[in-house]
Amino acid sequence: MTKPVKFIPQEIIRRKRDGKVLSDAEIQFIVRGITDDSVSEGQIAAFAMAVFFQGMTMDERVHLTRAMVHSGHVMDWSSADLGRPVVDKHSTGGVGDKVSLMLAPIIAACGGAVPMISGRGLGHTGGTLDKLDSVPGYNTSPSPDLLTKTIQKIGCAIIGQTADLAPADKRFYATRDVTATVESIPLITASILSKKLAAGLDALVMDVKFGSGAFKEDYEDAVELSRSIVTVANGYGMPTTALLTDMNEVLGKTAGNAIEVRETIDFLMGRKPDPRLTDVVIALCSEMLILTGLADKETAPHAVQGALTSGTAAEKFAQMIAALGGPRDLMTDTDRHLPLAPVVRDVFAPSRGYLGSLNVREIGVAVLDLGGGRHKASDKIDYGVGLSNIAGLGTKTGPRHPIARIYARSDEAADRAEQRVLQAITIAEEAPPKQPPVRQKMTKEDI
Ligand code: URA
Repeated sequence: MTKPVKFIPQEIIRRKRDGKVLSDAEIQFIVRGITDDSVSEGQIAAFAMAVFFQGMTMDERVHLTRAMVHSGHVMDWSSADLGRPVVDKHSTGGVGDKVSLMLAPIIAACGGAVPMISGRGLGHTGGTLDKLDSVPGYNTSPSPDLLTKTIQKIGCAIIGQTADLAPADKRFYATRDVTATVESIPLITASILSKKLAAGLDALVMDVKFGSGAFKEDYEDAVELSRSIVTVANGYGMPTTALLTDMNEVLGKTAGNAIEVRETIDFLMGRKPDPRLTDVVIALCSEMLILTGLADKETAPHAVQGALTSGTAAEKFAQMIAALGGPRDLMTDTDRHLPLAPVVRDVFAPSRGYLGSLNVREIGVAVLDLGGGRHKASDKIDYGVGLSNIAGLGTKTGPRHPIARIYARSDEAADRAEQRVLQAITIAEEAPPKQPPVRQKMTKEDI
Protein backbone atom coordinates (compact mmCIF):
# COMPACT_ATOMS: atom_id res chain seq x y z
CA MET A 1 0.00 0.00 0.00
CA THR A 2 1.36 3.45 -0.86
CA LYS A 3 1.51 6.02 1.90
CA PRO A 4 -0.64 9.18 1.42
CA VAL A 5 1.56 12.07 0.23
CA LYS A 6 1.95 14.99 2.61
CA PHE A 7 1.57 18.19 0.64
CA ILE A 8 3.08 21.56 1.45
CA PRO A 9 1.21 24.64 0.17
CA GLN A 10 4.28 26.56 -0.97
CA GLU A 11 5.52 23.56 -2.97
CA ILE A 12 2.21 23.36 -4.83
CA ILE A 13 2.29 27.14 -5.42
CA ARG A 14 5.87 26.83 -6.69
CA ARG A 15 4.88 24.08 -9.12
CA LYS A 16 2.04 26.21 -10.49
CA ARG A 17 4.32 29.27 -10.60
CA ASP A 18 6.70 27.24 -12.78
CA GLY A 19 3.92 26.25 -15.17
CA LYS A 20 3.42 22.65 -14.03
CA VAL A 21 0.09 20.85 -14.19
CA LEU A 22 -1.29 20.19 -10.70
CA SER A 23 -2.83 16.88 -9.75
CA ASP A 24 -6.37 16.44 -8.47
CA ALA A 25 -4.93 15.65 -5.01
CA GLU A 26 -2.80 18.83 -4.95
CA ILE A 27 -5.77 20.97 -5.94
CA GLN A 28 -7.98 19.28 -3.34
CA PHE A 29 -5.32 19.99 -0.72
CA ILE A 30 -5.23 23.70 -1.56
CA VAL A 31 -9.03 24.03 -1.58
CA ARG A 32 -9.31 22.17 1.72
CA GLY A 33 -6.77 24.60 3.16
CA ILE A 34 -8.70 27.59 1.83
CA THR A 35 -11.87 26.25 3.48
CA ASP A 36 -10.41 25.35 6.89
CA ASP A 37 -8.00 28.33 7.06
CA SER A 38 -4.86 26.12 7.10
CA VAL A 39 -3.69 27.87 3.91
CA SER A 40 -2.85 31.49 4.69
CA GLU A 41 -4.18 34.61 2.97
CA GLY A 42 -0.73 35.18 1.45
CA GLN A 43 -0.64 31.65 0.09
CA ILE A 44 -4.10 32.01 -1.46
CA ALA A 45 -2.98 35.27 -3.10
CA ALA A 46 0.22 33.67 -4.43
CA PHE A 47 -1.68 30.64 -5.72
CA ALA A 48 -4.23 32.90 -7.46
CA MET A 49 -1.46 34.95 -9.08
CA ALA A 50 0.38 31.80 -10.21
CA VAL A 51 -2.84 30.56 -11.85
CA PHE A 52 -3.44 34.02 -13.31
CA PHE A 53 -0.11 33.90 -15.16
CA GLN A 54 0.27 30.18 -15.86
CA GLY A 55 -3.37 29.24 -16.45
CA MET A 56 -4.83 25.79 -15.86
CA THR A 57 -5.61 22.90 -18.15
CA MET A 58 -9.26 21.98 -18.54
CA ASP A 59 -8.66 18.94 -16.30
CA GLU A 60 -7.19 21.15 -13.57
CA ARG A 61 -10.24 23.42 -13.87
CA VAL A 62 -12.56 20.43 -13.43
CA HIS A 63 -10.57 19.33 -10.33
CA LEU A 64 -10.65 22.85 -8.89
CA THR A 65 -14.37 23.17 -9.53
CA ARG A 66 -15.12 19.78 -7.97
CA ALA A 67 -13.03 20.53 -4.89
CA MET A 68 -14.80 23.87 -4.45
CA VAL A 69 -18.26 22.31 -4.90
CA HIS A 70 -17.47 19.81 -2.13
CA SER A 71 -16.05 22.44 0.23
CA GLY A 72 -19.60 22.80 1.59
CA HIS A 73 -23.14 21.52 1.35
CA VAL A 74 -24.30 20.14 -2.00
CA MET A 75 -28.04 20.41 -2.52
CA ASP A 76 -29.80 17.24 -3.57
CA TRP A 77 -33.28 17.58 -5.00
CA SER A 78 -33.81 13.85 -5.57
CA SER A 79 -35.67 13.37 -2.27
CA ALA A 80 -37.92 16.41 -2.87
CA ASP A 81 -39.96 14.50 -5.46
CA LEU A 82 -40.14 17.48 -7.77
CA GLY A 83 -41.02 15.54 -10.89
CA ARG A 84 -39.36 18.37 -12.82
CA PRO A 85 -35.81 18.81 -14.11
CA VAL A 86 -33.76 21.25 -12.01
CA VAL A 87 -32.21 23.97 -14.16
CA ASP A 88 -30.76 27.45 -13.79
CA LYS A 89 -29.23 30.31 -15.72
CA HIS A 90 -26.22 32.38 -14.70
CA SER A 91 -25.22 35.72 -16.13
CA THR A 92 -21.76 37.22 -15.89
CA GLY A 93 -23.56 40.47 -15.05
CA GLY A 94 -24.63 43.60 -16.82
CA VAL A 95 -26.58 46.83 -16.56
CA GLY A 96 -30.37 46.56 -16.59
CA ASP A 97 -30.09 42.77 -16.68
CA LYS A 98 -33.37 41.76 -15.06
CA VAL A 99 -33.62 38.52 -17.09
CA SER A 100 -33.48 36.23 -14.02
CA LEU A 101 -36.65 37.77 -12.64
CA MET A 102 -38.57 36.83 -15.78
CA LEU A 103 -36.84 33.61 -16.63
CA ALA A 104 -37.41 31.75 -13.33
CA PRO A 105 -41.23 32.01 -13.49
CA ILE A 106 -41.28 31.32 -17.25
CA ILE A 107 -39.34 28.08 -16.78
CA ALA A 108 -41.55 27.13 -13.82
CA ALA A 109 -44.59 27.71 -16.06
CA CYS A 110 -42.99 25.44 -18.70
CA GLY A 111 -42.44 22.53 -16.29
CA GLY A 112 -38.92 23.15 -14.95
CA ALA A 113 -37.71 23.70 -11.39
CA VAL A 114 -35.50 26.74 -10.80
CA PRO A 115 -33.80 27.07 -7.40
CA MET A 116 -31.97 30.23 -8.39
CA ILE A 117 -29.10 31.29 -6.14
CA SER A 118 -28.47 34.93 -7.00
CA GLY A 119 -25.96 37.54 -6.02
CA ARG A 120 -25.81 41.19 -5.06
CA GLY A 121 -24.60 44.03 -7.26
CA LEU A 122 -20.89 44.03 -8.06
CA GLY A 123 -19.27 47.32 -9.12
CA HIS A 124 -21.27 48.96 -11.90
CA THR A 125 -23.51 45.91 -12.43
CA GLY A 126 -26.80 45.35 -10.63
CA GLY A 127 -27.63 42.25 -8.60
CA THR A 128 -30.85 40.24 -8.78
CA LEU A 129 -30.94 39.95 -5.00
CA ASP A 130 -30.82 43.74 -4.52
CA LYS A 131 -33.67 44.11 -7.01
CA LEU A 132 -35.76 41.60 -5.07
CA ASP A 133 -34.94 43.34 -1.80
CA SER A 134 -36.91 46.31 -3.12
CA VAL A 135 -40.05 44.16 -2.80
CA PRO A 136 -41.34 44.70 0.75
CA GLY A 137 -41.36 41.52 2.85
CA TYR A 138 -39.66 39.27 0.25
CA ASN A 139 -37.29 36.90 2.03
CA THR A 140 -34.13 36.13 0.06
CA SER A 141 -32.85 33.70 2.72
CA PRO A 142 -35.71 31.31 3.45
CA SER A 143 -35.24 28.18 5.58
CA PRO A 144 -34.29 25.04 3.61
CA ASP A 145 -37.80 23.76 4.32
CA LEU A 146 -39.54 26.85 2.89
CA LEU A 147 -37.22 26.80 -0.13
CA THR A 148 -38.06 23.15 -0.86
CA LYS A 149 -41.80 23.74 -0.38
CA THR A 150 -41.72 26.78 -2.69
CA ILE A 151 -39.91 24.82 -5.42
CA GLN A 152 -42.30 21.88 -4.97
CA LYS A 153 -45.43 24.03 -5.12
CA ILE A 154 -44.50 26.78 -7.57
CA GLY A 155 -41.40 25.58 -9.39
CA CYS A 156 -39.13 28.56 -8.75
CA ALA A 157 -37.51 30.54 -5.96
CA ILE A 158 -34.87 33.24 -6.28
CA ILE A 159 -32.75 33.40 -3.14
CA GLY A 160 -29.30 34.43 -1.89
CA GLN A 161 -26.22 32.31 -1.38
CA THR A 162 -26.11 30.45 1.93
CA ALA A 163 -22.90 30.33 3.98
CA ASP A 164 -22.52 26.58 3.50
CA LEU A 165 -22.73 26.67 -0.31
CA ALA A 166 -19.21 26.49 -1.80
CA PRO A 167 -17.55 28.25 1.20
CA ALA A 168 -14.10 27.90 -0.42
CA ASP A 169 -15.24 30.29 -3.13
CA LYS A 170 -16.23 32.90 -0.57
CA ARG A 171 -12.71 33.08 0.93
CA PHE A 172 -10.93 32.59 -2.39
CA TYR A 173 -12.99 35.29 -4.12
CA ALA A 174 -12.43 37.80 -1.30
CA THR A 175 -8.65 37.39 -1.71
CA ARG A 176 -8.81 37.52 -5.52
CA ASP A 177 -10.84 40.71 -5.27
CA VAL A 178 -8.01 42.54 -3.47
CA THR A 179 -5.06 40.99 -5.34
CA ALA A 180 -5.97 41.79 -8.96
CA THR A 181 -6.62 38.14 -9.81
CA VAL A 182 -10.39 38.19 -10.41
CA GLU A 183 -9.92 38.20 -14.20
CA SER A 184 -8.32 34.74 -14.41
CA ILE A 185 -10.58 32.62 -16.64
CA PRO A 186 -9.83 29.29 -14.86
CA LEU A 187 -10.62 30.91 -11.51
CA ILE A 188 -13.81 32.59 -12.77
CA THR A 189 -14.89 29.24 -14.23
CA ALA A 190 -14.43 27.36 -10.96
CA SER A 191 -15.96 30.19 -8.93
CA ILE A 192 -19.17 30.41 -10.94
CA LEU A 193 -19.58 26.69 -11.53
CA SER A 194 -18.85 25.61 -7.95
CA LYS A 195 -21.85 27.62 -6.73
CA LYS A 196 -24.10 26.38 -9.52
CA LEU A 197 -23.08 22.73 -9.12
CA ALA A 198 -23.56 22.94 -5.35
CA ALA A 199 -27.16 23.96 -6.04
CA GLY A 200 -27.77 20.45 -7.40
CA LEU A 201 -28.68 21.38 -10.97
CA ASP A 202 -29.45 18.97 -13.80
CA ALA A 203 -28.52 21.61 -16.41
CA LEU A 204 -27.23 25.17 -16.70
CA VAL A 205 -27.39 27.94 -19.29
CA MET A 206 -24.73 30.65 -19.12
CA ASP A 207 -25.34 34.18 -20.31
CA VAL A 208 -21.86 35.51 -21.03
CA LYS A 209 -21.97 39.25 -21.65
CA PHE A 210 -19.57 41.24 -23.78
CA GLY A 211 -19.43 44.95 -24.56
CA SER A 212 -19.04 48.21 -22.68
CA GLY A 213 -21.30 47.23 -19.76
CA ALA A 214 -19.91 43.73 -19.31
CA PHE A 215 -17.39 42.30 -16.88
CA LYS A 216 -15.46 40.91 -19.92
CA GLU A 217 -15.74 43.78 -22.44
CA ASP A 218 -13.77 42.11 -25.19
CA TYR A 219 -15.65 39.65 -27.42
CA GLU A 220 -12.72 37.22 -27.65
CA ASP A 221 -12.41 37.13 -23.85
CA ALA A 222 -16.12 36.34 -23.60
CA VAL A 223 -15.68 33.54 -26.15
CA GLU A 224 -12.79 32.13 -24.11
CA LEU A 225 -14.76 32.31 -20.87
CA SER A 226 -17.75 30.61 -22.55
CA ARG A 227 -15.53 27.84 -23.90
CA SER A 228 -13.99 27.30 -20.47
CA ILE A 229 -17.35 27.15 -18.67
CA VAL A 230 -19.02 24.91 -21.26
CA THR A 231 -16.03 22.54 -21.28
CA VAL A 232 -15.67 22.29 -17.51
CA ALA A 233 -19.40 22.05 -16.73
CA ASN A 234 -19.97 19.35 -19.34
CA GLY A 235 -16.75 17.62 -18.23
CA TYR A 236 -18.27 17.54 -14.77
CA GLY A 237 -21.43 15.97 -16.14
CA MET A 238 -23.76 18.97 -16.03
CA PRO A 239 -25.20 19.72 -19.51
CA THR A 240 -24.35 23.38 -20.11
CA THR A 241 -24.69 25.79 -23.02
CA ALA A 242 -23.50 29.41 -23.18
CA LEU A 243 -25.04 32.31 -25.08
CA LEU A 244 -22.90 35.36 -25.76
CA THR A 245 -25.08 38.44 -25.42
CA ASP A 246 -24.48 42.09 -26.19
CA MET A 247 -23.94 44.58 -23.36
CA ASN A 248 -23.20 47.59 -25.60
CA GLU A 249 -26.75 48.68 -24.77
CA VAL A 250 -28.67 48.51 -21.51
CA LEU A 251 -30.88 45.42 -21.46
CA GLY A 252 -34.47 46.69 -21.49
CA LYS A 253 -35.37 50.26 -20.70
CA THR A 254 -34.55 50.56 -17.00
CA ALA A 255 -31.61 50.34 -14.61
CA GLY A 256 -31.99 50.39 -10.84
CA ASN A 257 -33.76 48.18 -8.34
CA ALA A 258 -37.50 48.81 -7.82
CA ILE A 259 -37.61 50.24 -11.33
CA GLU A 260 -36.31 46.96 -12.82
CA VAL A 261 -38.86 44.93 -10.85
CA ARG A 262 -41.51 47.26 -12.31
CA GLU A 263 -40.21 46.60 -15.82
CA THR A 264 -40.29 42.86 -15.05
CA ILE A 265 -43.94 43.05 -14.00
CA ASP A 266 -44.81 45.01 -17.16
CA PHE A 267 -42.92 42.45 -19.24
CA LEU A 268 -44.70 39.48 -17.66
CA MET A 269 -48.06 41.24 -18.05
CA GLY A 270 -47.33 41.84 -21.74
CA ARG A 271 -47.13 45.64 -21.46
CA LYS A 272 -44.79 46.93 -24.19
CA PRO A 273 -41.89 44.51 -23.65
CA ASP A 274 -38.57 45.77 -25.01
CA PRO A 275 -37.72 43.73 -28.15
CA ARG A 276 -34.02 43.15 -27.27
CA LEU A 277 -34.95 42.05 -23.76
CA THR A 278 -37.61 39.75 -25.23
CA ASP A 279 -35.06 38.20 -27.60
CA VAL A 280 -32.59 37.51 -24.78
CA VAL A 281 -35.27 36.08 -22.46
CA ILE A 282 -36.67 33.80 -25.18
CA ALA A 283 -33.21 32.61 -26.25
CA LEU A 284 -32.06 31.77 -22.71
CA CYS A 285 -35.35 30.15 -21.68
CA SER A 286 -35.42 28.10 -24.89
CA GLU A 287 -31.94 26.75 -24.20
CA MET A 288 -33.02 25.76 -20.70
CA LEU A 289 -36.04 23.88 -22.06
CA ILE A 290 -33.93 22.17 -24.74
CA LEU A 291 -31.16 21.12 -22.32
CA THR A 292 -33.65 19.58 -19.91
CA GLY A 293 -35.69 17.87 -22.65
CA LEU A 294 -38.82 19.89 -21.81
CA ALA A 295 -38.96 21.08 -25.44
CA ASP A 296 -36.95 20.84 -28.63
CA LYS A 297 -35.42 23.48 -30.89
CA GLU A 298 -38.69 24.07 -32.74
CA THR A 299 -41.13 23.98 -29.82
CA ALA A 300 -39.06 25.77 -27.13
CA PRO A 301 -39.58 29.41 -28.28
CA HIS A 302 -43.34 28.75 -28.64
CA ALA A 303 -43.51 27.25 -25.16
CA VAL A 304 -41.82 30.39 -23.75
CA GLN A 305 -44.13 32.74 -25.68
CA GLY A 306 -47.10 30.66 -24.54
CA ALA A 307 -46.11 31.03 -20.87
CA LEU A 308 -46.00 34.80 -21.40
CA THR A 309 -49.18 35.32 -23.43
CA SER A 310 -51.28 32.95 -21.31
CA GLY A 311 -50.28 34.83 -18.15
CA THR A 312 -48.97 31.66 -16.45
CA ALA A 313 -45.46 33.09 -16.09
CA ALA A 314 -46.90 36.24 -14.46
CA GLU A 315 -48.92 34.03 -12.14
CA LYS A 316 -45.82 32.03 -11.17
CA PHE A 317 -43.95 35.27 -10.42
CA ALA A 318 -46.81 36.53 -8.21
CA GLN A 319 -46.99 33.16 -6.41
CA MET A 320 -43.22 33.10 -5.81
CA ILE A 321 -43.28 36.63 -4.37
CA ALA A 322 -46.19 35.77 -2.05
CA ALA A 323 -44.71 32.40 -0.98
CA LEU A 324 -41.50 34.12 0.09
CA GLY A 325 -43.22 36.83 2.11
CA GLY A 326 -43.85 39.60 -0.44
CA PRO A 327 -47.19 41.33 -1.07
CA ARG A 328 -49.98 39.28 -2.67
CA ASP A 329 -51.07 42.24 -4.79
CA LEU A 330 -47.64 43.26 -6.14
CA MET A 331 -48.76 42.82 -9.75
CA THR A 332 -51.82 45.05 -9.36
CA ASP A 333 -50.72 47.57 -6.73
CA THR A 334 -47.20 47.98 -8.05
CA ASP A 335 -46.91 51.78 -7.57
CA ARG A 336 -47.68 51.47 -3.87
CA HIS A 337 -45.24 48.62 -3.22
CA LEU A 338 -42.42 49.82 -5.46
CA PRO A 339 -42.31 53.61 -5.11
CA LEU A 340 -39.76 55.61 -7.10
CA ALA A 341 -37.67 58.57 -5.95
CA PRO A 342 -39.42 61.96 -6.23
CA VAL A 343 -37.03 64.04 -8.38
CA VAL A 344 -37.86 63.07 -11.95
CA ARG A 345 -35.89 64.51 -14.85
CA ASP A 346 -35.68 63.75 -18.56
CA VAL A 347 -32.23 63.90 -20.14
CA PHE A 348 -31.85 65.29 -23.66
CA ALA A 349 -28.83 64.91 -25.91
CA PRO A 350 -27.23 68.27 -26.85
CA SER A 351 -27.74 67.77 -30.58
CA ARG A 352 -30.08 66.23 -33.13
CA GLY A 353 -29.07 62.92 -34.65
CA TYR A 354 -29.03 59.31 -33.53
CA LEU A 355 -27.61 57.60 -30.49
CA GLY A 356 -24.34 56.33 -31.93
CA SER A 357 -22.77 54.68 -28.89
CA LEU A 358 -23.38 54.23 -25.20
CA ASN A 359 -20.81 53.57 -22.51
CA VAL A 360 -23.02 51.16 -20.58
CA ARG A 361 -20.59 50.94 -17.67
CA GLU A 362 -21.07 54.70 -17.12
CA ILE A 363 -24.86 54.21 -17.07
CA GLY A 364 -24.33 51.61 -14.36
CA VAL A 365 -22.09 54.02 -12.46
CA ALA A 366 -24.78 56.74 -12.75
CA VAL A 367 -27.24 54.39 -11.00
CA LEU A 368 -24.62 53.51 -8.40
CA ASP A 369 -23.98 57.20 -7.75
CA LEU A 370 -27.71 57.91 -7.38
CA GLY A 371 -27.60 55.45 -4.46
CA GLY A 372 -28.85 52.39 -6.35
CA GLY A 373 -25.66 50.38 -5.71
CA ARG A 374 -22.84 50.04 -3.22
CA HIS A 375 -19.35 51.52 -3.08
CA LYS A 376 -18.51 49.12 -0.24
CA ALA A 377 -20.24 45.99 1.06
CA SER A 378 -21.81 47.74 4.08
CA ASP A 379 -23.49 50.54 2.05
CA LYS A 380 -27.28 50.75 2.15
CA ILE A 381 -29.11 50.80 -1.19
CA ASP A 382 -31.80 53.29 -2.16
CA TYR A 383 -34.26 51.04 -4.01
CA GLY A 384 -36.33 53.88 -5.49
CA VAL A 385 -33.62 55.57 -7.57
CA GLY A 386 -32.62 54.69 -11.10
CA LEU A 387 -33.16 55.31 -14.78
CA SER A 388 -36.06 54.52 -17.10
CA ASN A 389 -36.75 55.12 -20.79
CA ILE A 390 -33.08 54.45 -21.57
CA ALA A 391 -32.62 54.85 -25.30
CA GLY A 392 -31.22 52.08 -27.45
CA LEU A 393 -28.56 52.63 -30.11
CA GLY A 394 -29.97 54.30 -33.21
CA THR A 395 -32.70 56.18 -31.29
CA LYS A 396 -33.38 59.72 -32.54
CA THR A 397 -31.93 62.44 -30.33
CA GLY A 398 -32.85 66.10 -29.97
CA PRO A 399 -35.02 68.44 -27.88
CA ARG A 400 -38.15 66.31 -28.29
CA HIS A 401 -36.50 62.92 -27.75
CA PRO A 402 -35.23 62.21 -24.22
CA ILE A 403 -32.48 59.61 -23.95
CA ALA A 404 -33.32 58.65 -20.35
CA ARG A 405 -35.44 59.62 -17.35
CA ILE A 406 -33.76 59.98 -13.98
CA TYR A 407 -35.36 59.18 -10.60
CA ALA A 408 -33.28 60.81 -7.87
CA ARG A 409 -33.59 61.84 -4.20
CA SER A 410 -32.34 65.39 -4.79
CA ASP A 411 -31.68 67.91 -7.56
CA GLU A 412 -27.93 67.62 -6.92
CA ALA A 413 -28.03 63.85 -7.38
CA ALA A 414 -30.09 64.30 -10.56
CA ASP A 415 -27.52 66.85 -11.86
CA ARG A 416 -24.69 64.36 -11.37
CA ALA A 417 -26.63 61.54 -13.02
CA GLU A 418 -27.50 63.80 -15.97
CA GLN A 419 -23.83 64.66 -16.46
CA ARG A 420 -22.85 61.00 -16.37
CA VAL A 421 -25.53 59.99 -18.87
CA LEU A 422 -24.48 62.79 -21.24
CA GLN A 423 -20.83 61.78 -20.95
CA ALA A 424 -21.76 58.18 -21.72
CA ILE A 425 -23.22 58.88 -25.16
CA THR A 426 -22.08 59.90 -28.61
CA ILE A 427 -24.41 61.28 -31.26
CA ALA A 428 -24.10 60.13 -34.86
CA GLU A 429 -25.50 61.61 -38.05
CA GLU A 430 -26.84 58.24 -39.07
CA ALA A 431 -28.22 55.40 -36.99
CA PRO A 432 -25.60 52.65 -36.50
CA PRO A 433 -26.53 49.23 -37.94
CA LYS A 434 -28.69 47.17 -35.58
CA GLN A 435 -26.91 44.28 -33.88
CA PRO A 436 -28.75 41.18 -32.66
CA PRO A 437 -28.54 40.95 -28.85
CA VAL A 438 -27.71 37.22 -28.90
CA ARG A 439 -24.49 36.94 -30.90
CA GLN A 440 -23.33 33.35 -30.52
CA LYS A 441 -24.25 30.06 -28.95
CA MET A 442 -21.67 27.65 -27.60
CA THR A 443 -22.67 24.07 -26.88
CA LYS A 444 -20.57 21.07 -25.92
CA GLU A 445 -20.47 20.13 -29.61
CA ASP A 446 -18.63 23.41 -30.34
CA ILE A 447 -15.72 22.76 -27.97
N1 URA B 1 -18.58 35.99 -10.58
C1 URA B 1 -18.29 34.98 -9.74
O1 URA B 1 -19.15 34.41 -9.08
N2 URA B 1 -16.99 34.61 -9.63
C2 URA B 1 -16.00 35.18 -10.33
O2 URA B 1 -14.87 34.78 -10.20
C3 URA B 1 -16.33 36.24 -11.21
C4 URA B 1 -17.64 36.63 -11.31
